[in-house]
Amino acid sequence: MSSKKDGIMIILSSPSGAGKTTLVKLISKNKNYEISISHTTRKPRENEISGKDYFFINEKDFKDLINKQEFLEHAKVFNNFYGTSIKPVKENLDKGINVIFDIDWQGTQQIKNKKLKYKLITFFVLPPSKEVLFNRLSNRDMKDKLIVEERMKEFKKDVLHWKDYDYVVINDQLEDCLEQIITLIDTDLNKTKNNYNLKLIHEHVEKLIS
Ligand code: 5GP
Repeated sequence: MSSKKDGIMIILSSPSGAGKTTLVKLISKNKNYEISISHTTRKPRENEISGKDYFFINEKDFKDLINKQEFLEHAKVFNNFYGTSIKPVKENLDKGINVIFDIDWQGTQQIKNKKLKYKLITFFVLPPSKEVLFNRLSNRDMKDKLIVEERMKEFKKDVLHWKDYDYVVINDQLEDCLEQIITLIDTDLNKTKNNYNLKLIHEHVEKLIS
């Protein structure tokens, strides 16, 4: 049984480029929130710092961590491996600190299946349109057009996982989206009413995949 003192787990997933990493960083500025820093075999982007954005490691070290069962979940995303270490997550949750995860749908499924004692709330973040997504990805990986194309192709497949999440939010205006997430966490924890509109989400997804 989860004790009242335990922290909660918040997962944000999205198709690449929907702005979830920025949202995760903003949520973590709230009191009592810590980001779970993943391990990855992906090469760092400019401005990314090891130990802050990710722990950047090679494939051999990643496989060692899998064998030592140090991951709460791990997955291959876009030809690279990503994984969440169990230890810091549990330590934080047991201290009453809330942990936010920026992970994909595969990792989310694994964590859901583990049925840990901690409260879990999952969010799927969508872009306002395919055009906005394309622009966001192009700005980020300007030097590598192939990556943008590859991630746009994955988009249609990734979007279909929205149904596995507690809430889906549209990241049009960052501040509004952030506020919506904070409100949904609050209403979920306090079991109070919210204005979450599932019909609107259905319609939005239809537009994105048409
Ligand atoms: P990026 O390379 O753009 O930072 O991340 C690519 C994808 O991998 C994103 O969807 C991100 O959420 C996901 N990701 C990052 N860390 C993890 C992790 O530890 N586990 C899983 N399953 N996915 C992750």
